[in-house]
Amino acid sequence: MEEKQRIIVVGAGPVGSLAALYAANRGHDVEIYELRSDLRDPSTTPLNFTRSINLALSERGINAMRHAGQPKLIDHVMGATIPMRGRMLHLRKRNGGLAEESQDYDAHGRSILAIDRGGLNKRLLDILEEMPNVKFFFNHKLTRADLEKNKAWFHVREADSSVQVDFDLMIGADGAHSAVRQQMMKFTRMDYSQQYIDTLWCEFQIQPRENGSEADPNNKFRISPNHLHIWPGRNFMFIAIPSEDGSFTCTLFAPPAVFAELEADLKGSQLVEFFDKFFPGVTSHIPPPELIASFQQNPHLPLINIKCKPHHFSSSAVVVGDAAHAMVPFYGQGMNAGLEDVRILFNTLDKYATTEAGTTPASRRALALNEYTAVRTPDAFAINDLALQNYVEMRASVLSTSYRLRKAIEEALSVYVPWLGWQTKYSRVSFGNEPYSLVVAKSEHQAVLITRFSALATFGGAGLG
Ligand code: FAD
Repeated sequence: MEEKQRIIVVGAGPVGSLAALYAANRGHDVEIYELRSDLRDPSTTPLNFTRSINLALSERGINAMRHAGQPKLIDHVMGATIPMRGRMLHLRKRNGGLAEESQDYDAHGRSILAIDRGGLNKRLLDILEEMPNVKFFFNHKLTRADLEKNKAWFHVREADSSVQVDFDLMIGADGAHSAVRQQMMKFTRMDYSQQYIDTLWCEFQIQPRENGSEADPNNKFRISPNHLHIWPGRNFMFIAIPSEDGSFTCTLFAPPAVFAELEADLKGSQLVEFFDKFFPGVTSHIPPPELIASFQQNPHLPLINIKCKPHHFSSSAVVVGDAAHAMVPFYGQGMNAGLEDVRILFNTLDKYATTEAGTTPASRRALALNEYTAVRTPDAFAINDLALQNYVEMRASVLSTSYRLRKAIEEALSVYVPWLGWQTKYSRVSFGNEPYSLVVAKSEHQAVLITRFSALATFGGAGLG
């Protein structure tokens, strides 16, 4: 039987909340320290987000919640999602008309799910609140930690004072600018890299139709609810993800230079022209005054890619989620990967939990955390890289013939010759639980085979010619 431990979780975002749930289910005393006030308090503004944003939830995130030991969590989550079975590309025809092209994500009809990030986070906090071994400390900011003495110091906003907390294990789920990671760097030789990509993002909304559509008065969606909509623009793109109320959360991704040019035009007419030129049809869903107001009022935020190794220090601290591997959002995997971290971390801790002569909880935890870093860092690096590459795919490659051809070949093989085990990279990432690094290796192997096969076919064809 595993001894009860005092586990503190820093950060009550989706990943920290799930980590707290896993720890609490194992009977530990769990304390959650969060910089901001309670997300469920309507006056709290979510960090970095203007309003509650929608995310793509997929198998890895769902699987992590499935194993949290709380069936009501997964029931609630699945009930609050909208399936998106593919991308809907919005294009302009040669004659100037509008065209839509649906590209399914998966040959077997599987979908990713649109979910309200705030709603998911609140649900996790509600479940934690009912657990007797969980305590919340909102408005507590981690300022310092001594990871050799297992002590942490938090600034308490209301009292403007500092409190000292002792712990067995500190789980850092405090996001991209993690204080836990910074403290860990003082104690361990951590390799660390961060990259701001040459892109900013800004959020917009497509409002629901008030009276539904002509065909269906109950349908409040202005565009298909079962797609992730993309207006590809080569160097920039606009996307839309459905919400349960019939609205869409939309995001413009573009280089800072483009933002600067659009910001310089105070009246915003250039913005409307820019949208009409590159994102056909958007201004018929978002009236120009709303488009301009969103661009002027909502923040223009950077995108960061962070890699670090190790993810832990000794037996006392570990980072998960964005704190360990913030990534650009183009594979829709940031939160999914973070939730998966939690499942893998606790599986590894469980593996070393059994009491054995000559070991202590701390010595077993140290072995588990060591293994966790060894197993998880190659996968964190792999998904960070895939996310960067997918930006090119979403805004440009989706239009190319070679991309469509490879997708068609791989999907045909996956459906008609299933025993070969072929799948597209996207399917492996979004609908499976194989380690990300294995997905990359398998996908590279498939690419080599396709290239060889194409060369043979071309050579054979020329010979026959
Ligand atoms: P966060 O959500 O950042 O939470 C960290 C928490 O720690 C915060 O509550 C913060 O207040 C707290 N904190 C910070 N510092 C301290 C401190 N010193 N002391 C105490 N508390 C502290 N992911 C997907 O899976 N699918 C998607 O489709 C997707 N789309 C995205 C679109 C955009 C535009 C962006 C920007 C991101 C997207 N992501 C997506 C990524 C996803 O939002 C993040 O990966 C996820 O929110 C990370 O969760 P987290 O709990 O690790 O960190």
